[in-house]
Amino acid sequence: MRTHQILGTLAATTLASLALTACSTDDEDSTGGDNTGGASVVATTTPLGSVTAQIAECAEGQATTLMPVGADPHDFSASSAQIADLATADLVVANGLGLEGGLDAALTQAEEDGVEVLHVAEDVDPLPFGEEEGHDHGDLDPHFWLDAARMASAAEIIGARVAEVSGDQAWADCGTEVGSELTALDEELRETLAAVPGDRRTIVTDHDAFGYFTEAYDFDSAGVVVPGGSTEAEPSSQELAALAGVITDEGVPAIFSNTAVNPGLVDALAAEVGDDITVVPLYVGSTGEEGSPAGDYQGMMRENARLIVDALA
Ligand SMILES: [Zn+2]
Repeated sequence: MRTHQILGTLAATTLASLALTACSTDDEDSTGGDNTGGASVVATTTPLGSVTAQIAECAEGQATTLMPVGADPHDFSASSAQIADLATADLVVANGLGLEGGLDAALTQAEEDGVEVLHVAEDVDPLPFGEEEGHDHGDLDPHFWLDAARMASAAEIIGARVAEVSGDQAWADCGTEVGSELTALDEELRETLAAVPGDRRTIVTDHDAFGYFTEAYDFDSAGVVVPGGSTEAEPSSQELAALAGVITDEGVPAIFSNTAVNPGLVDALAAEVGDDITVVPLYVGSTGEEGSPAGDYQGMMRENARLIVDALA
């Protein structure tokens, strides 16, 4: 790996071609073109990276995560060393549906170089964005991981796909095993969130990331601070004032911000609303630091449920 990093992008392209020659279309080769013995998988985001790492640990394979903890998946872009690592993976697990805006070119390049890229959001029954938030009609929402049942499906899909490209069936079995754990997590989250009464299940979030969450766990969205489905746009002062009015009218007690995004706009909205509002950061685009309660996917989802209950119940 170290030499790849030194050689840079031009060489990375050459190495990608070599990797392609060495391991493409050979499903019988259980080493999968990786010299450490197990299949080698690179996931893009930290939630996907956490689940993929759990499957890899069970299957005794290799998994790495491209984005560091705290990165916003919408605007993260990879270094040339990371792009070189993509070229040597047996499989890249990407979220897809436009989430990784800053990785588009790198992922397209990897695919053109013959690397298998799984766009997992496309395979978990994606939902369209809510119509009122200014999306183009028909745009599909990439934020599926905030529904643990869909992440359970994703675990099975990831395991099965690695088994397919590497020939190592352990990955498929482990994907099923991790999937069952996440199905149990989904049930646990439902029980935790049941503490929020029916007339208080309205949320306001930093951007339009909670479509799957609200559908899965029976909440409503009263609005989002950043329009357009990504974290990249900026609301006008009129839009902020209108949302502050909705929050006041509906008596919403909290605005949920995002640990992976600068809270400046959410704080501006809170200031507009006045004293009766708290700002609660949730783990939206990223897990928490390793070893912290939100340090893996299950932990981030449990922490979010706990924080939502504390803020609304
Ligand atoms: Zn997002």
